[in-house]
Amino acid sequence: MAESEPPKSFLETLRISRGITQVQLAAATGISQAALSKVESGTVDFDEDRWATIAKELGVPVSAFTSANQPMEAALVFHRKRKSTPKTALNKIAADLALTRLRVESIVGSQKTSLRRHDLEDGYYTSGEIARKVRRELGLGDGPVPDLVAMLERAGVIVLRWPLESLQVDAIAAWPAKSGPVILVGEHVPAERQRFTMAHELGHAVLHDGEASDAQEREADDFAAEFLFPAKQVVKEWVANPSLEDLYPIKRKWGISLAALIRRGYDCNLLDDREYRGWNVKLSSTGMHRREPAPLPPENPKALRMAIAHAQATGITIELLAERAHMYPTEFAATFMEEIA
Ligand SMILES: [Zn+2]
Repeated sequence: MAESEPPKSFLETLRISRGITQVQLAAATGISQAALSKVESGTVDFDEDRWATIAKELGVPVSAFTSANQPMEAALVFHRKRKSTPKTALNKIAADLALTRLRVESIVGSQKTSLRRHDLEDGYYTSGEIARKVRRELGLGDGPVPDLVAMLERAGVIVLRWPLESLQVDAIAAWPAKSGPVILVGEHVPAERQRFTMAHELGHAVLHDGEASDAQEREADDFAAEFLFPAKQVVKEWVANPSLEDLYPIKRKWGISLAALIRRGYDCNLLDDREYRGWNVKLSSTGMHRREPAPLPPENPKALRMAIAHAQATGITIELLAERAHMYPTEFAATFMEEIA
């Protein structure tokens, strides 16, 4: 789903990302809700004492506000989630994403993606055709996409593994007009589904510019399927009446889940309705749709960690990086450096 994210102030974004309401913040700080509301909408500013009180409550250095309570840059936001995900949870994670974008930019500088946008021109092109165009632009030829995270990073997209499990969200992505895109992928998502999820987000990014709809979800899925495993290759590599074991090498080669592979076979008319249903029953009755056999190795984002390591090598301390990101060093390290050995 996609929605245009209206620009919010740093304070409002931070407050929502912490899961705190205006009423709660007013009660905790002794500052009236009316005053908070005015400051969040940018009509007035606080003095340093009030900012210090708020900074303490929200767990950030006061410089975060005194240097920059600027409006956040607007961006298109897409998420892949369960339909039942509560609105407040989505608002919280959208705020978390907006902050993360700002923080990432303070580390890597403002970068632009080399990905081009494509218009479906009201159905003149299919999303499958656009997927093939994007493959060509990225120089992928006809073969598998070996490391999708690395490919996205080369195209100027920051990918982060993020704790989204409790939010029932597989991924959330922001594609701002002016700065670099960021995709947060749920830590709980297994590698095969992670690849499809990222390809789905890539589909939104190149195809769509707002207004959530079920049609867009299908288009992003169709894009992802063709991007990861083009129909031409599916037909070439399919084994007649495949056993489960016959599918493992195809799964590994193309980096696609068995569930998506079965769907691919069906969409390419290699499985009929009955066979497709049979496969789905088999996958779900054995719990395989949740934990698939022949799991794929995880793809690990590296760009941000390398940027941090590079900054450190040039004498920039974690304290300074954290301050630029409007965070305390402990939160900065826990957020962006946990995987660094
Ligand atoms: Zn989507």
